[in-house]
Amino acid sequence: METRELARPLVQNRVQAAIMRIARAEEGPVSRSKLPRLIGVSRSKVSMEVQRLSEAGLIAEYGLAESDGGRRSSLLGIPPSAGLVAAVDLGATSIDVALITLGGEILAHRGESVDIKDGPRIILGRVKVRLEELLGEQSAESREVLSVGIGIPGPVEHAAGVLRSPHIMPGWDRFLIQDAFAAEYAAPILVDNDVNVMALGEHWGGVGREVDNMLFVKIGTGIGGGIIADGCLYRGVQGCAGDIGHICVEPDGPVCSCGNKGCLEAMAAAPAIARKAERCAREELSPTLARVLAERGEVRANDVGEAASLGDYHALEIIRDCGRLVGRVLATLVSTLNPSLIVIGGGVANIGHSLLAEIRSTVYGRSVPQATRSLPVVLSGLDRLAGITGAGVLAAEGVLQTGG
Ligand SMILES: [Zn+2]
Repeated sequence: METRELARPLVQNRVQAAIMRIARAEEGPVSRSKLPRLIGVSRSKVSMEVQRLSEAGLIAEYGLAESDGGRRSSLLGIPPSAGLVAAVDLGATSIDVALITLGGEILAHRGESVDIKDGPRIILGRVKVRLEELLGEQSAESREVLSVGIGIPGPVEHAAGVLRSPHIMPGWDRFLIQDAFAAEYAAPILVDNDVNVMALGEHWGGVGREVDNMLFVKIGTGIGGGIIADGCLYRGVQGCAGDIGHICVEPDGPVCSCGNKGCLEAMAAAPAIARKAERCAREELSPTLARVLAERGEVRANDVGEAASLGDYHALEIIRDCGRLVGRVLATLVSTLNPSLIVIGGGVANIGHSLLAEIRSTVYGRSVPQATRSLPVVLSGLDRLAGITGAGVLAAEGVLQTGG
């Protein structure tokens, strides 16, 4: 993750930061009476800081909480007027941008298809045009944006704050994303890899809301993992934690974009699924896939899902193969991290129920029983919005932190 210093901190101290984070929870406004216990400070301290946040326009009252026996406490939330953040979700083949209130409501969202290989200047130029359009629609200006959160499909070096040898993104190596936004946005620019950002989104507003330890796995053009440990994103020393796509699953397997052989990504991501499907079509093992190849000249991963839903045996086997490979790597992670939830997202996640079923049975079959006694393996609840939601979380957390 890379950050730029805030010119003027939004919150003044640790208690204010904690109040804002709790008020930002996806469940909606929080009862004021719960704050002292949740934060671990006195009622009078909470009162004083709520008053200050309220005067700054960052907190507002939203009626009264249910009575717990005594006097009814007020509900506190973040008003839309507190400010907005910009969220950017870059994928290998698409960009999504959104304006989100500091409280977490998506005000406007737009996406378009791109090729990330076009390089940072063209792609980030498109992002800025889309953001300007959204700001115009909201009658807002770029200087009103409190922070920008960006998810990017490559490894982001935490300490140096740059992209580090992104295999699928020639031209992006060592590129400083923040510099591209500096002229228009006088705000912190926070960048993290796309899967970490999706994990943040799913943890804040998706199926991971209730858990503190979870794994998010993205299966798309590439494969990656995001680790939430004890309620926080775990990035590791260089920001590479969770980069499961380059774990070797077949020493003599196909060459991966990283240069090694037999990485999980080279064996089970969308291009690998398409490659296996095309071979099946050429060898006429699958009449459905052969028809797709004859009509279109290529076979894509989602064609395999459709063929499988029609009962095509070979298409189903390709999906099961992918599920088994991902499941084996996840079983190792389950033994290492002992999470309470695994969430599967990304473009390939919805290829068919058989993928999730195969991942589940492999994880359960290859992990120690104590670790999987209560371990749901589920599809992303936010689906295509996971990246945008997480970029909004990254942006908001960037302005709600303080050293005080
Ligand atoms: Zn690799």
